[in-house]
Amino acid sequence: MAAPVKTRARVDDGRADAFPVIEIFGPTIQGEGPDAGRPAYFVRFGGCDYRCSWCDSLYAVVPAEVRAHAERLTVAEIGTRLADLPVGPSLVILSGGNPALLELDPLVTDLQRTGHEVAVETQGSRWRDWLGAVDRLVISPKPPSSGMTDERRVAEFEDFMVSANESGVTSALKIVVFDGVDLAWAEKIHAKFSQIPCFLSVGTDQEVDDESTIAMLRTRFRWLAEEVARRPALVNVRVLPQLHVVAWGTARGV
Ligand code: SF4
Repeated sequence: MAAPVKTRARVDDGRADAFPVIEIFGPTIQGEGPDAGRPAYFVRFGGCDYRCSWCDSLYAVVPAEVRAHAERLTVAEIGTRLADLPVGPSLVILSGGNPALLELDPLVTDLQRTGHEVAVETQGSRWRDWLGAVDRLVISPKPPSSGMTDERRVAEFEDFMVSANESGVTSALKIVVFDGVDLAWAEKIHAKFSQIPCFLSVGTDQEVDDESTIAMLRTRFRWLAEEVARRPALVNVRVLPQLHVVAWGTARGV
């Protein structure tokens, strides 16, 4: 795997046309959702409006961490960093944090103009019109175990889904499931938005070594697969392990 492009701590440089980028890496494979298993590049942006209890990307979430690790890059500079990586897939995944906090319209336009397929991952809290222009919008609402399912956030998510539907963008739901409460919640979300393909992944605890990660993943995946298989309401969802965790554990930049 290619090493992630190094970034420097230079968040407040006053360039209004630049975005806080935590890391750019690839080619690697997408580990979850509708593009699971596909080679891709990743651009991870800093900043998030959530604080999920099990977040695996806090370095892209906590403001002090973002200030310490992000580099502000323009659209042209992001394109150059991607072009400097080994030649590979057309798919570029914009991730975070929550990239929907940013106005990434010019980046999407530029990436598509240069032949890239663009997918975005967001929890579905803030709609931006540029999200309607991407090739695939992967919406990842956070289940109860995240601590982010209060009434306000649920209302924001439902507004987001209305906007996504009105935009006509190709969408998919990707929900991480840690336990039975999460699964029951995912079942309700799937029932409400049954027209959108739905992917369930087992969650991964952080700060565990590779061997215990894999053992935990297998146990949880088996549980989730068996639960989904016996529920008629979930007959159209797809269950996946987090493939990047299978391959690389909880390492960054792969
Ligand atoms: S929405 Fe994603 S990036 Fe933000 S805190 Fe939750 S898991 Fe982390």
